[in-house]
Amino acid sequence: MNRIKDLLISLAAPPPHRCFLCEREFPMSEDGLCDECRRTLKLAISPAPPEGLDGLTAGLRYCDELGTIFYRFKTGERRDYTPFLAQFISIPEEWRAEMLVPVPLHWLREYRRTYNQSFLLSEYVSSRYGIPICRELLVRTRRTPQQKLQKGTQRRKNLKGAFQAAPECQGRSIVLIDDVVTSGTTLSECAKALKKAGAKHVYAACVACTER
Ligand SMILES: [Zn+2]
Repeated sequence: MNRIKDLLISLAAPPPHRCFLCEREFPMSEDGLCDECRRTLKLAISPAPPEGLDGLTAGLRYCDELGTIFYRFKTGERRDYTPFLAQFISIPEEWRAEMLVPVPLHWLREYRRTYNQSFLLSEYVSSRYGIPICRELLVRTRRTPQQKLQKGTQRRKNLKGAFQAAPECQGRSIVLIDDVVTSGTTLSECAKALKKAGAKHVYAACVACTER
């Protein structure tokens, strides 16, 4: 009898939920944020696409608070952030997207981290839009130093020719999925590799972007 009583109580009062941004306890909200944090987040409206891309969407403008979340998501095994972050990724219908390609990590980096955060996001986006993920279309053939530690020209130099695309992308409309766009150099190099292999259009859909 007590078990039934406990069950009824647990159904009546949903467990408290922690806001993704400030981690304070709040009643469950649809987007995982408390009212205060929702007000601090700024939407990114039509960011300019980096060179080689036919379009870019990013749901949020990058800010320090988001930086902490992305850091934990990438390196701290916080895979549970995936649905929260993936909700800010959008793919316009006019792109006529046929394939999703998560921005690849070098296999050694992925092995060490145990996962690729862009792939986790792609899984959610794929089920929402019904577009297949084709991660084998693009590989990172070279290890490159952490981008955030590099300056502009050095970044471009390091990434030149670091990606290789498969011929199956020929004539296709492809959407790259990534978490954050900063300089756009990585996306740009991915797009160049895909277009070199014959892709018709290459777009990118991301969670957030820095002021561009
Ligand atoms: Zn909050």
